[in-house]
Amino acid sequence: PSPASNGGENCCVKVALHIRPLIADERAQGCKDCVTVVSGKPQVQIGTHAFTFDHVYGSSGTPSSAMFGECIGPLVDGLFQGYNATVLAYGQTGSGKTYTMGTGFKDGCQMGIIPQVMNVLFSKIETLKHQIEFQLHVSFIEILKEEVRDLLDPTTLNKSDTANGHGGKVNLPGKPPIQIRETSNGVITLAGSTEVSVSSFKEMATCLEQGSLSRATGSTNMNNQSSRSHAIFTITLEQMRKLNPVFPGDSNPNDSMNEEYLCAKLHLVDLAGSERAKRTGSDGMRFKEGVHINKGLLALGNVISALGDDKRRKEGVHVPYRDSKLTRLLQDSLGGNSRTVMIACISPADINAEETLNTLKYANRAR
Ligand code: ADP
Ligand code: MG
Repeated sequence: PSPASNGGENCCVKVALHIRPLIADERAQGCKDCVTVVSGKPQVQIGTHAFTFDHVYGSSGTPSSAMFGECIGPLVDGLFQGYNATVLAYGQTGSGKTYTMGTGFKDGCQMGIIPQVMNVLFSKIETLKHQIEFQLHVSFIEILKEEVRDLLDPTTLNKSDTANGHGGKVNLPGKPPIQIRETSNGVITLAGSTEVSVSSFKEMATCLEQGSLSRATGSTNMNNQSSRSHAIFTITLEQMRKLNPVFPGDSNPNDSMNEEYLCAKLHLVDLAGSERAKRTGSDGMRFKEGVHINKGLLALGNVISALGDDKRRKEGVHVPYRDSKLTRLLQDSLGGNSRTVMIACISPADINAEETLNTLKYANRAR
């Protein structure tokens, strides 16, 4: 399909709301469900506020199992046609981002979007491999305090409790920091991060698992497993397709004119917790981290709302990709011909109502 036939939608960003069930901890505290799904519509109500999204999953909305087929499957198909794509999980700490994304992959558990993407990807490759030559790469990085960290760095993997007090998570001295670069044709690359070539589900799953273990977590008032970083798992798919010669007998096996090359990438992003910095404690360090996290999320909100505003887009309004590392890294996969799905994750519990409302407002702005 041509880029113009992008599903007939006028916006390149789709927003799905995911409402997780009340968890044991919330039930134990006597929490009540404060989010109502309007029956038959992708609409929710909280207090006097109502919000409509492209899709609503979980709670009494469409079952979560439908999300992959409706929102993510089309992005994987698009990869094979050369379209970049981004999936973003947004929400406060504890709202289900990691669970939904599958970034916490452990022990071969097949839950979550990333393992399902891997399944679909490898079964599609299996059916096409006789006509097309494929190459797959993955990278897994996190952005913490506006610095990019390689979660697949072979020199720091499996050293999570070393004596240096940094948990083996700091780039070694002398190792240059990872830089985000843009090529002359607008392709964003990460200089200095590990790109692992993979050829099976198992190999890709190993990358996901190792990177997940290496991801920084720190304790805050909100949750002692709170993630203050953006984790980005990127799958790059390269294809070499032999084109049929126009005239039989005309084909020259060494003629690169008879080959079609396509390259596309899918970013699967488990964003930092969206809760406000003021709730994460008073020491200077944590506050600084909070401020930086907000910088990425703030820039992302601005970029997505600029992309979603058709009128402004046609007027050639500037899209502020350069305002954060996160948006800079995603630049060639947000907007343009690429497809983006934001999954806004919320808890239904009344104690989280204030942050839930913030998430709904942020996600609403993205539409
Ligand atoms: P976040 O990454 O946003 O901080 P998590 O994914 O870690 O949140 O989820 C917080 C808790 O809620 C975890 O205990 C997780 O197992 C549980 N949880 C999240 N989503 C669901 C779901 N859809 N069904 C059941 N439990 C869930
Ligand atoms: Mg998480």
